[in-house]
Amino acid sequence: MSHNDTTTAPRPRPELFIDGRWVPAVSGETMTVIDPSTGSGIGSVAAGSAADVDAAVAAARGAFDDGRWSTLSARERSRVLLRVSGLMRERAEELAQAERLDVGKPIMFTRTIDVPNAADLFEYYATLAPHLDGRVPDTPLPAFSYTTREPRGVVAAISPFNFPLILSSSKIAPALAAGNVVVHKPAPQTPLSAQLMADILAEAGVPAGVYNLVTGEGAEPGDALVKHPGVDMVAFTGSTKVGRIVARNAGELLKPVVAELGGNAANIVFADADLEQAVGAVINAFVFNTGQFCMAGPRLLVERPVHDAIVGILEGAVGDVPLGSPSDDGTVIGPLVSADQLARVTDAVREAVGSGGRVVTGGEPIELDGGYYFQPTVIAGLPADAPAVREEVFGPVLTVQPFDTEDEAVALANSTPYGLAAGVQTGDISRAHRVAAKLDAGIVWVNGWAMLDAAVPFGGVKASGWGRENGAEALESYTRVKSVTIAVAPAPATGDGSGS
Ligand code: NAD
Repeated sequence: MSHNDTTTAPRPRPELFIDGRWVPAVSGETMTVIDPSTGSGIGSVAAGSAADVDAAVAAARGAFDDGRWSTLSARERSRVLLRVSGLMRERAEELAQAERLDVGKPIMFTRTIDVPNAADLFEYYATLAPHLDGRVPDTPLPAFSYTTREPRGVVAAISPFNFPLILSSSKIAPALAAGNVVVHKPAPQTPLSAQLMADILAEAGVPAGVYNLVTGEGAEPGDALVKHPGVDMVAFTGSTKVGRIVARNAGELLKPVVAELGGNAANIVFADADLEQAVGAVINAFVFNTGQFCMAGPRLLVERPVHDAIVGILEGAVGDVPLGSPSDDGTVIGPLVSADQLARVTDAVREAVGSGGRVVTGGEPIELDGGYYFQPTVIAGLPADAPAVREEVFGPVLTVQPFDTEDEAVALANSTPYGLAAGVQTGDISRAHRVAAKLDAGIVWVNGWAMLDAAVPFGGVKASGWGRENGAEALESYTRVKSVTIAVAPAPATGDGSGS
């Protein structure tokens, strides 16, 4: 396997993007960005603090209040966003290399999934924006009522490390399409693609101050942003733990929040499924993005008659999934994002083994180029309440449990605090509908996994949060509804009553 030409890989710049200009952090501080495949620094970005958040929000507030973006017609905004999408496609290789370098994602996926999906989001919301119409409600009032959808104002977009480009675009694209302005805080581990996006948005014609970027360690700028009185709405994707803090802080100020939080999906395989296809979905569901996927399927539930056969297939197949440098064309599993994440996954597996789990395959970190690699791991024999089953591990780790009835499968699937995604692998279409309806999850995939698109809403229930990204639903959440009711006086009486 040959290493790709990585000369197009961008380098981080040690500045923030505020009011259309690259500026150093007020403190002058920077922080190092690490390549997870080697553990080495690749450069630094500005370490923004509350003072930088103040500057970014002031720029955004000014840009919103003078209407330089919000008063454009939807079609004008749409044209700019279509240019964003076009530029992302033109600069696809640079963006793909940024995600590879920063997150450690295999280049095969950054080229075919991350960059095209992000460009699709800008294209999708560009085309949807002109359809963001109000209504004319029918009322018995002697009046005429209509509704409009207005932008909310300054949106704080806070994104996680695992899909930096897609999950930034899934906020920025609908926010801008609806006429809002944005202050974006990417995850500290993965700021690189946001820097490229700042340039792309400016080049496409997004006016100064409409998109602002503050990089930095999470809690300080994140906290300052959510609590800032100049911020009107928070769009947050991240862990349930931080999501609770964000929701509390925003709740205190009565700010609307879209909260896309952790997941721990069950993938249910019935004995009537096409087993070859089902095993493909099972493996994809837990190794994709090295398991650092909120919609991963780390809990495999298998109907007892095929349990041992499926575990046997996994034992033989999982170790063959290509693991290695994210720069190699054939790599499917790259490193975890950081030394911390590697330590968390290692601890979770050790804890699972200590509490009676049987490692079917994998189970150990891998020493390779100094990167943060972990073997794809399958663990059988754990009870439903074991921490490795209940909690989000966020690594390439699959637990397997047998079930005997459809009801038991549903109960096991719904038995964690999370409710983001779930999967049903079955050859029985009636069962697919029945089970999908009973699953406590925002997304259900039948006979496959991770079938996602800009047009299809996703989001969670329970501890996986609320609100939806993608689809028309997301665009609506970046607006507020106004009703205007105009009294209509009766026609003046005429002299002869004939009306003529
Ligand atoms: P995280 O919660 O650690 O961080 C998310 C973002 O919040 C980062 O930008 C971080 O810097 C910022 N942050 C940290 N403290 C903050 C604070 N006090 N106030 C405001 N912002 C703060 O999450 P992560 O480790 O980057 O991402 C992984 C998690 O995200 C997983 O739990 C995963 O399931 C979840 N996730 C959910 C979805 C979804 O759509 N539901 C998608 C992707 C990831």
